[in-house]
Amino acid sequence: MPAVTLDSPVAGLGRLTKRHKEALATLRIETVRDLIFHFPFRHEDFSATVPIAEAPVGQTVTINAKVTGLRQRKSFRRRLAMAEASLEDEFGGKITAVWFNQPYIANMLPVGTTCRFAGKVSQTKLGRRLVNPMYQPPGKADSAAYVSPLIPVYSTPAGLTQLMLRRLIDAAKPAIEQVEEHLPAELVSAEGLMPLAEALQHVHFPPDQGSLRAARKRLAFDEMLRLQLAVGQLRRERQSLAAPAVQFDEAGTKTFVGRLPFQLTDDQRRAGWEILQDMQRPHPMNRLLDGDVGTGKTVVAALAMINAARAGYQSALMAPTEILAKQHFETLKKLFAAEGVTLALWTNSYKRSAADGAELAAAGKKETELLGEEIAAGRIQAVIGTHALVMDSLRFDKLALAIVDEQHRFGVNTRQKLVQKSGLPDQQPHLLSMTATPIPRSLALTVYGDLELSLLREKPANRQPIKTKLVAPTQRNQAFAQIREQIAAGRQAFVVCPLIGESDKSETTSVDEAFAQLSQIELHGIPLAKLHGKLSADEKEQVMADFLEQKTKVLVSTSVVEVGVDVPNATVMAIEGAERFGLAQLHQFRGRVGRGEHRSFCFLLPGTTSPESLARLKALEETNDGFELAEKDLRLRGAGQLLGKAQSGHSGLNLANLADLPLVKRTRSAADRLLDQDDSLKRWPALRQLVTRLTEEPVHLE
Ligand code: ADP
Ligand code: MG
Repeated sequence: MPAVTLDSPVAGLGRLTKRHKEALATLRIETVRDLIFHFPFRHEDFSATVPIAEAPVGQTVTINAKVTGLRQRKSFRRRLAMAEASLEDEFGGKITAVWFNQPYIANMLPVGTTCRFAGKVSQTKLGRRLVNPMYQPPGKADSAAYVSPLIPVYSTPAGLTQLMLRRLIDAAKPAIEQVEEHLPAELVSAEGLMPLAEALQHVHFPPDQGSLRAARKRLAFDEMLRLQLAVGQLRRERQSLAAPAVQFDEAGTKTFVGRLPFQLTDDQRRAGWEILQDMQRPHPMNRLLDGDVGTGKTVVAALAMINAARAGYQSALMAPTEILAKQHFETLKKLFAAEGVTLALWTNSYKRSAADGAELAAAGKKETELLGEEIAAGRIQAVIGTHALVMDSLRFDKLALAIVDEQHRFGVNTRQKLVQKSGLPDQQPHLLSMTATPIPRSLALTVYGDLELSLLREKPANRQPIKTKLVAPTQRNQAFAQIREQIAAGRQAFVVCPLIGESDKSETTSVDEAFAQLSQIELHGIPLAKLHGKLSADEKEQVMADFLEQKTKVLVSTSVVEVGVDVPNATVMAIEGAERFGLAQLHQFRGRVGRGEHRSFCFLLPGTTSPESLARLKALEETNDGFELAEKDLRLRGAGQLLGKAQSGHSGLNLANLADLPLVKRTRSAADRLLDQDDSLKRWPALRQLVTRLTEEPVHLE
């Protein structure tokens, strides 16, 4: 047989069926190298053996036993080849091990053999059984296919078993030492990392916990470093682009701030200052304004827009829904009235302009064209809109500032298209993104590492805190009694449900079901409305309008209310199946209420009594700090909860943990040191190739 090399096709490692090959393809494993870089996500520790007599039914155990008898037969019902071994340990305990479809067992385990067996204990009519246990035949002690003390567990798609994958990796083992170190030698020694080949060897075939820990540490560092290098390159690339330097109008800004009906919070001042500093530089800003719902992001955006206008440029603000765009337009119209900044609204349904306080509606095709011309000629200084801003053939004259509200609702492409419409030939506009999703520090330094961050942590002083209550199923009636009381007092309520339709019935309360139940029982006689993603845009708009006009009192909805409108009269947020949401998302829902003068309530109605879920939800009762909750979420549920599937999946992290702040910081500074030496990474071709692969993935890094 030819020697195994890193580039050998994985199909050459054993007799693989078509099904196996397809399964490997879904893991993108083609070569032996790919296989070696497919890491186990955890290890099962089989080092501790138990006496057979004490092996609990239903648990996976390791025993040390002697084969006292062996039989082969066909299983009665399924006609499968079956091998049965009688096992006995030194304490006199007995159990039968059963293997299906493994005809070679008899050869491997002749009667009289003593070795370790690991598997799950089940109870049958004929006594306790170990079904398909792993075993360690004599002379195979270090082979991962058998029971070494630490067994790697890999992610396997359908069609490929753990054992099969372990056998393949066992066959690929000789190639591991051919893997060359791809990190610079100085870095490996400065960081005290285990060399790559050794780490690969130990992660697949760990001799003991200590080596495994060091191997995982090395590989986690490696993964995180590559992510940091990719993000660092993007950051440096942006610094090399040109943008209009927007002069800071200090006097004008002071006048504007002085005219506001409230005092800016310190956080708002600092954020405004950071943004205006960035905009003065001749390189495009890429800043994220991150502040909880109600912390006052709009007025900070307004500061930036006014400065762009004063410097002779245009700005655009893009919101994810028409309702939000319209709301921003109304807010900014008031804020800009005394500033002499001309503005327009541009969505599919509404096209309007407002200049000198007077509002012009552009209803027809003709007027729309005219408004488009005004914008293209630069006579409109600030444009507020939706996706329509990028979809329509709208052009700007001199767009220096693009603002995207609730940035996670837009793909990178949308943002990019807006940037391309700037009308500035060799320059890019400054980009300000706004989000109410609190981003933990570790993510800000990795996945969002190309962004500068401005935080609004403090809420304007006049806010009433929201009372949050975790409601046990037995207290449901009391919670709804309180909701009815609020409605009787003239207030309104949201009820959020996890999923729509019947599909996931057993696990979740759908909007349809919740609506039916609420209208017949808990909220009988109260006008309710449904809101979910299957409604058309017009229907949604109508539902929201009815709710705003208080024609309906309760909105039963899916998570679409997350990006909702300001309904100061709504004082109740009730969340069904609360355990199904991340803490950060629940916190967002909660932020939909408590916006008016009335005291507001948030009821968490879990569909489970699992102590873990309830403990997690308790955190919401205890704190109102979104950042704290986001950190918790990241630790408990992983980045997917915060980033959405596409973005977290993209990070491609297998061993490294995005919540590991010390690792994040260390790799970030290591990446900076390397990029300072050579930002193209050409000096380290193998590393460069890995990093390039990361940035070329279809989903772009934030
Ligand atoms: P966000 O977009 O961050 O959720 P908004 O910009 O919509 O918040 O502001 C919420 C409300 O708070 C608005 O009515 C706004 O006028 C008001 N507001 C903003 N800043 C302050 C402040 N410093 N003091 C008092 N009220 C403020
Ligand atoms: Mg907002």
